[in-house]
Amino acid sequence: MTRNAEIAERGTQVLVGNYAPQPVALVRGEGSWLFDADGNKFLDLMGGIATATLGHANPKLTAALADQAAKLWHVSNLYTTEPQIRLAEQITANSFAEAVYFCNSGAEANEAALKLARRHHYDRKQAGEQETEEDRTEIIAFEGAFHGRTLFTVSATGTPAYWEGFGPMVPGIHHAAWGDLDAVRKLLSNRTAAIIVEPIQGEGGIRLAPAGFLQGLRDLADENGCLLIFDEVQVGMGRTGPLFAYQQEGVTPDVMTLAKALGGGIPIGAMCTTRPLSKALIPGTHASTFGGNPLACAVAATIFDELLSGGVLDHAKAMGERLGEGLNAIAEEAGTERVLEPRGRGLLRGLAMAAAPGPIIDACRERGVLVISAGGNVLRLAPPLTISADEIDHGLRVLRDVILEVAQ
Ligand SMILES: *Cc1c(COP(=O)(O)O)cnc(C)c1O
Repeated sequence: MTRNAEIAERGTQVLVGNYAPQPVALVRGEGSWLFDADGNKFLDLMGGIATATLGHANPKLTAALADQAAKLWHVSNLYTTEPQIRLAEQITANSFAEAVYFCNSGAEANEAALKLARRHHYDRKQAGEQETEEDRTEIIAFEGAFHGRTLFTVSATGTPAYWEGFGPMVPGIHHAAWGDLDAVRKLLSNRTAAIIVEPIQGEGGIRLAPAGFLQGLRDLADENGCLLIFDEVQVGMGRTGPLFAYQQEGVTPDVMTLAKALGGGIPIGAMCTTRPLSKALIPGTHASTFGGNPLACAVAATIFDELLSGGVLDHAKAMGERLGEGLNAIAEEAGTERVLEPRGRGLLRGLAMAAAPGPIIDACRERGVLVISAGGNVLRLAPPLTISADEIDHGLRVLRDVILEVAQ
């Protein structure tokens, strides 16, 4: 029995079986490369699901973590700690946001955003500032959206399979077809608290918003008086080009959520909003024991420095172009009987396949390249933003050969 198989077998004995992990036990990483328990080496084109921002075991991040680890780990938000303030200063200095709430995951960031939206309207009504009588509690989300797995966020998630057996879902959530402004218009009312949307649907299959869609949502939200929440958990932090995806479209949300790439692999989430809206969460309304933990924030603050002053953002843009061009070439060569279309932006890319991509993922792994899937038979690539041109070219060569051989 291989070490990989032995470790995986132990896992089946003691872990809840909600995951079906691939049969490799990863023990070490270095830059864009991962190593398993049997000494095999893999090029990481999935980045821990769009999370390993600066690659694995980045020396600056391990130093930042070790430095903070030697000072202070955790005291709770009953006390002030500087690393979370430094990180919030970086986020607010580089985005529309004026106030940040820290938590530990994407689901928690969206949970906070949805709760903030309801509470904001509740406060306005209490203060006699609302023009109409109805309570604004409803949320408009999209088919194919992914917002997390807590009950509120999975209720907003637009994949009914994820609801099965967990009902009753959080009431007051409606789903519109992706990209359909008319559908949103019909769902809006004096009961709407917020529209929540991913600027690019990630889990749903790397589905870009149609041109003008996000601006259309901004206009509809303004007309209606509800909030507009951008879930940038997967697309934020330079993954799709600019630091935040909303900047690409020139459409500013009221609330933006971050997680995945924010901590580069250290669990952290953030709900970012304006100062006036932040007033909905006064002491006692919402909290997290670990949120803004010094270890996570020290790492995330270092990532910010690297993206902006360290030149990683510019590098990622160039690598995103290179990856996109390579995938276009593969799609063209493979033909629509194998690849329906290339998708994505920056270093969040997909190939919509004619058939389920499982065999291609397995064959790539056997040839030392890790890729993952997304909804709707999409092969997903989300490598570290620090990936080199040579690494991209190597990954593309393997992917091309596998697709030509395996996809029929
Ligand atoms: C991954 C993801 C989430 C959920 O994040 P978790 O950290 O798994 O809770 C929410 N929204 C989007 C867009 C995501 O990609």
